[in-house]
Amino acid sequence: MDFKSFVLNHLNTGVVQTNGPEKNQQIFIANLFSFIGYALAFLMGVSAFIRQDWLLGSVLLIACLLFFSSHLILRSKRITNPYNVSANLVTSSLMLLMVYLVYTGGVNGTGPLWIYIVPPVVLFFGGLRKGTRNLALFVLVISILMFYPNNEWLGTSYTFEFKSRLLYSFLTVSCLFALYEYVRQNSFQRIKEMSQKYEKQAMRDPLSGLLNRRGMRERLQNEFERSQRYKNDLTVMMCDIDHFKVVNDQYGHDKGDDVIINLGAIFESCLRKNDSLARWGGEEYLLLLPETNGDQGMQLAEKLRRKIAETQYKHDDKTFSVTISIGLHQIAATDTINQAITKADTNLYKAKKQGRNRCIID
Ligand code: GH3
Ligand code: MG
Ligand code: MG
Repeated sequence: MDFKSFVLNHLNTGVVQTNGPEKNQQIFIANLFSFIGYALAFLMGVSAFIRQDWLLGSVLLIACLLFFSSHLILRSKRITNPYNVSANLVTSSLMLLMVYLVYTGGVNGTGPLWIYIVPPVVLFFGGLRKGTRNLALFVLVISILMFYPNNEWLGTSYTFEFKSRLLYSFLTVSCLFALYEYVRQNSFQRIKEMSQKYEKQAMRDPLSGLLNRRGMRERLQNEFERSQRYKNDLTVMMCDIDHFKVVNDQYGHDKGDDVIINLGAIFESCLRKNDSLARWGGEEYLLLLPETNGDQGMQLAEKLRRKIAETQYKHDDKTFSVTISIGLHQIAATDTINQAITKADTNLYKAKKQGRNRCIID
């Protein structure tokens, strides 16, 4: 394994297909943060040991172990939500380490310079609300430690100017990161909503608002699987408007569109919540009827056929009506989706051949 794939493997620990891209990106960044955390803590710990600063060295090595554990947790299959456990561990270890550095001053009083790492990490892992709460807690703790009279609660001493400027600049950086996180979350939410909207639109026919073929395929897949698993009845119904070309020729394409839309509404008014309806082609509709056998399907088909034939349309001072032909098929255990649709289509063809305005089932 080369170095690049080793690093990528390491950073992708815990990334699995079922998580979805958003969660996987968070896990990737969590690995990156913990990697930077344990590598830095390790190097600085070793450097502290070389300077014979045993206490700082030990604290840094403990922090290194904690950051590394947060990476190991992402590997775990036994923990229910490894990402959350790992994120909480990174956040709390980092904040504790920073409180320790502020308290002791680290190397010659330079410890507090590291606290600027806290806002991006805490806001990334906690999100805006929890992150801001954790940041407020952190500010409160270091403020109490630093501003307790006479530096009594500190293992070192800072000038008032240093402490106040440290706090102001830390608050500024925190506010900027919180603002950034707020904007990021908002844009992310907007993009998510937009993509959901477009995905929905891609499943619908723009004229009638009914499902299109793509949308119906998904329903077919789900209902097929369900009927096979639970041995439930399932019937498909293919409907086609009779002599629709004549409607277009006599009353115009716009009137034809109105008829297509209206038929969709009639179908919908007669269907149950679990039934699905799609505009399968130009003047063709496909209905999917779960928990419905052939006889029940035929009853519904007859009802629809009659209702549609009775509906009158007006054009100028003329009135007209349309009829439909329907082919049905009750799905057999051995059918594939395409075979079932072809069988319903064959029955529709028979209905057309036998004179139209009728329903046929095999
Ligand atoms: P049949 O009884 O054999 O089904 O005859 P038909 O005239 O309905 O069948 P054919 O397949 O020959 O013609 C279908 C017509 O449907 C032709 C096409 O212009 C029309 N059509 C398809 N999509 C639309 C649409 O979105 N709007 C309108 N107004 N007409 C459409
Ligand atoms: Mg037709
Ligand atoms: Mg047709």
